[in-house]
Amino acid sequence: MDGSEVILGGWVHEVRNIGKIVFILLRDHSGIVQVIGKEGDVSENVMHSMNLPKESVVMVKGRVKKNGESKLGFEIVPSEIVNLNPLESAIPFEVTGKVPAEIDVRLDNRHIDLRRLDTTSIFNIQSTVLGSFRKTMAKDGFTEIRTPALVEAATEGGADLFKVEYFDRKAFLAQSPQLYKQLAVIGGMDRVFMVVPVFRAEKHNTVFHLNEITQMDAELGFADHNDAIRLLKKAVKNIIKDVVYSNEQDLKRLSADAGEPKVTEIRYAKAVSLLNENNLNIEFGQDFTREQEGALCSILGDLVLVKEYPKRVRAFYSMPNEKDGRVCNSFDLLYKGLEISSGAQRIHKPEMLVQSIKEHGLDSADFDFYINAFRQGAPPHAGWSLGLERLTMKLTGAQNIRECCLFPRDRVRLKP
Ligand code: ATP
Ligand code: MG
Repeated sequence: MDGSEVILGGWVHEVRNIGKIVFILLRDHSGIVQVIGKEGDVSENVMHSMNLPKESVVMVKGRVKKNGESKLGFEIVPSEIVNLNPLESAIPFEVTGKVPAEIDVRLDNRHIDLRRLDTTSIFNIQSTVLGSFRKTMAKDGFTEIRTPALVEAATEGGADLFKVEYFDRKAFLAQSPQLYKQLAVIGGMDRVFMVVPVFRAEKHNTVFHLNEITQMDAELGFADHNDAIRLLKKAVKNIIKDVVYSNEQDLKRLSADAGEPKVTEIRYAKAVSLLNENNLNIEFGQDFTREQEGALCSILGDLVLVKEYPKRVRAFYSMPNEKDGRVCNSFDLLYKGLEISSGAQRIHKPEMLVQSIKEHGLDSADFDFYINAFRQGAPPHAGWSLGLERLTMKLTGAQNIRECCLFPRDRVRLKP
């Protein structure tokens, strides 16, 4: 394009004025280009209009000029610069990153924070994740569905639910699409997937938890947990491959390494022995601590799939294992030491379901419509749920899950 006329829109990242030359680093989501005004090359008027405050939003008309010494191999010689909307208030922190800003300040001003190229890269990667997930599922013949966010009863027990007023009744925000995706399979849709917001009123304040998250879910009819595991492995491997292929620049900018798309599968019982051999004491029947999950990934690899957990640490709808009555056909996928997905074969026998609901200390009356559906031709089925923000966190190397949600909702944050 050397010599071509172009019109660029973007933000003023930095201005350097060294007398006879003025530089603007002009930024948009795709990167930064240098606009160079040299005395003699451009009019005095244009030189003057280049003295803009950082973060001004501008239109630059100019000519592309090849320059082997500049970062991109070219720069822009301006013929006109228009300040599209002069700044009326101060920018709360340095978009350049030269002065680091606290995450709370950045999140309070997310529209400014999104101008940081690091933040842009995180959401470029997240976009690839969503596209890749949909591609894998569609290719395997899955139908994308939507499930309700407003529900009458809890999915997995009464705690951790946000109550809302629903006309003259009370309702809740769904903590998972679990029951609905199962109903879709029982309804003969056979293979369904969804990308849905779910809400968890968990009070803990950690770098791994949000109160509104996006779940990527799948449910398969005529399937057991091993079928579901095969699908999950494929989806996650494809996501990593697609991100490595499509987001090379973003990963580089973030100094992130997505890791090897190789999944090591291990039974819970075996994982318990392995941890004990490594002096991370755990008894059969206990759930893993975060430290233990981290250790499993250090020993076995970036992606570890643990299957057949003890019944009592899993949701009531998990199918008991035929060979070992202590465990159920459930599984978790760990990625770089963090749980990113949970799944299971579901109980499809109504009496077994009632029994399990009781054993988990819940009231089967609350699950009437759910249990009754299993009396009317429910096939064996299995599925999983993959947390979008946690997966993004591990792909991008972010230390705080809030970085991986455009407008995070946590214990205190409800704005913007
Ligand atoms: P954890 O025990 O790690 O808090 P969980 O087992 O309660 O998670 P699940 O109900 O299994 O979570 O949810 C499925 C997936 O959704 C998880 O594997 C995780 O990726 C994601 N997820 C669940 N809760 C949260 C949360 N509060 N914040 C962020 N992601 C979450
Ligand atoms: Mg889980």
